Amino acid sequence: MAQITLKALAHSYSPNPSGPEDYAIREMEHVWHQGGAYALLGPSGCGKSTLLNIISGLLTPSDGQVLFDDQVMNELAPEERNIAQVFQFPVVYDTMTVYDNLAFPLRNVGTSEAKVRERVAEVADVLELTSLLKRKARNLTADEKQKVSMGRGLVRDDVAAILFDEPLTVIDPQLKWKLRRKLKEIHERFNITMIYVTHDQLEASTFADKIAVMYEGQVVQFGTPRELFEVPAHTFVGYFIGSPGMNLVEVVRTEKGVRAGTVDLVLAPPLLNAIHQSRSRNIKLGIRPEFVKVLAEPGEGTYPVEIDNVQDLGTYRIVSFEFAGVPFRARLEEDQRLPERKAYIRFPEAWLSLYIDEFRVEVGQ
Ligand code: ADP
Ligand code: MG
Repeated sequence: MAQITLKALAHSYSPNPSGPEDYAIREMEHVWHQGGAYALLGPSGCGKSTLLNIISGLLTPSDGQVLFDDQVMNELAPEERNIAQVFQFPVVYDTMTVYDNLAFPLRNVGTSEAKVRERVAEVADVLELTSLLKRKARNLTADEKQKVSMGRGLVRDDVAAILFDEPLTVIDPQLKWKLRRKLKEIHERFNITMIYVTHDQLEASTFADKIAVMYEGQVVQFGTPRELFEVPAHTFVGYFIGSPGMNLVEVVRTEKGVRAGTVDLVLAPPLLNAIHQSRSRNIKLGIRPEFVKVLAEPGEGTYPVEIDNVQDLGTYRIVSFEFAGVPFRARLEEDQRLPERKAYIRFPEAWLSLYIDEFRVEVGQ
């Protein structure tokens, strides 16, 4: 078991990379602590599989180091790294029985047959494969094969970490939910570091204590589901997490704050200072739909808007309107009064985020 550190890591599949766009992993640092249940979340193509393959050793990074505790792993082959990896599609030996498939990773490291029996029985029980142990893998359904594949990843309790690369893609939705719960159970029981790759935010937040959000080859935020929701550190996290995502509007700096379209916003001193210290012109203001106040009457700090659309989703409504020339949304709980077409919105300061070059401006808490 180990802490996994990625140091100045970068990877390009191209032999002669000419710019950042040629890198599947753009220089990044990251630490996965021993024993954590982590998700690696991001859209297709952002570099999730590349990162896992670098950790497991299937891929050698172009730059930087992979460390397990204090030991550099770069030169070590996958089988020397003591990592279990479960892939998107089943990896099973068709001609072997389910039992022998599950036993394989254990026998490979010279485990006694008594211990093999014990572990296989335990894992088969958790994954509900017990009745299939004597069957040849080739006769299994796709779901069953993937469960065997997961079992092969879970069977050793002495690995440094288990990496799951979108392992539930081929599993039907009901079973998916159940298996995710099982993984969580197994994590709690054995305290093995688990990194679970997914592009689904719900899947990430039901499995993980902490989520690493990946975007264009970098981890842009590593936090609890709540932190990702309340303080998105990057505009991409704002946009990607939440349903709908964060409202974002480009702004320009003014003497007292920022201007969005024709709307002037006054900012408190810490944010104001940060904005005046930066020279970037890429400044955005963000607020999640859940935190936008929608009122029937004007008041202090309100802006008039015209409601374009109301979507009733049962226990809440999503209200759409234009603010400073861009589409904005607010989420209203079912007991909140909804004004007619003409409404006034307010942005509680605590929930406003300011982004310079897409990263959130952090001011002393
Ligand atoms: P994800 O798993 O998040 O979908 P990947 O790590 O598979 O992303 O891919 C990251 C980027 O690297 C993508 O642009 C992809 O096209 C590219 N890529 C992945 N594998 C290879 C490869 N073997 N050769 C060249 N480019 C690759
Ligand atoms: Mg992938």
